[in-house]
Amino acid sequence: MEPRPVALVTGASAGLGEEFARQLARRNHDLVLVARDAARLEALAADLRATLGIEAEVLRADLTVESDLAAVEARARAVDLVVNNAGFGTFGPFHTLDVDAEERMVRLNVLAVLRLTHAAAAAMAERGRGGILNVSSLAGYQPGPRNAVYGATKAFVTSFTQAVHEELRGTGVSVTVCCPGFTHTEFQERAAAPASDVPDFLWQDPPEVVRAALDGVAANRAVVVPGAVNKVLGAVSGTLPHSVTRRISSLILERAVR
Ligand code: NAP
Repeated sequence: MEPRPVALVTGASAGLGEEFARQLARRNHDLVLVARDAARLEALAADLRATLGIEAEVLRADLTVESDLAAVEARARAVDLVVNNAGFGTFGPFHTLDVDAEERMVRLNVLAVLRLTHAAAAAMAERGRGGILNVSSLAGYQPGPRNAVYGATKAFVTSFTQAVHEELRGTGVSVTVCCPGFTHTEFQERAAAPASDVPDFLWQDPPEVVRAALDGVAANRAVVVPGAVNKVLGAVSGTLPHSVTRRISSLILERAVR
């Protein structure tokens, strides 16, 4: 029997990452589950082993800590698919926020994605097969006042991933960036931005976001924007100058995310 492909998912203890793990298991992958909360990862691994009969390995790591990141890089070299999903945001005027948390955000949302993409891409290009999926955000499509560093980290991920997609064209390695909009997870609570005034039609649930992203990887699409509303928002943002989009973004974030 063919061995199952192995997928490494960062941020698998909650939200989109947990859903990536569940859907990849249903798509017959063995898993390496990465996050800081080992108890949550062990519970998920046990559930997936019992219900779907796959192998699930727990790799506890804080991806903002160099030694932990190095261990995950080593593991990423040996898997078939890497999902760089772990990330967090903060909310408020930049100069009022804790600068150490802003730096940690860059370490997680940018540097960990950069290093894990490098480790995986080098090994996969040599093997002539593999996949990398980086989770970005529509927040990266325009400057995000009150969300300045988060939006900038996601602008990096979206641009960077598309460039690497192009570099690896024809090598057998697929590279995809997924840019979700508002999605019901623990993200807003962790960012202390409840977003309770964001209208219902702007929200998605993790299963539809993850399904679109994994279908995008299977088709080696460069960019996946899940959902019709988000596709329109992304397209509109792409046609307007930043002098306009940063104002609109400021108004929306001021009113909706509180
Ligand atoms: P979430 O429910 O808060 O989950 C975040 C995950 O990241 C958790 O598993 C968390 O696990 C992990 N994580 C946080 N800090 C970490 C660290 N230092 N090292 C390792 N893992 C860490 O948020 P989510 O919405 O699923 O976020 C997943 C991705 O989607 C993020 O990149 C986010 O930017 C992106 N996104 C979210 C939305 C949204 O509205 N939800 C929209 C667009 C894009 P531990 O705490 O156990 O470490």
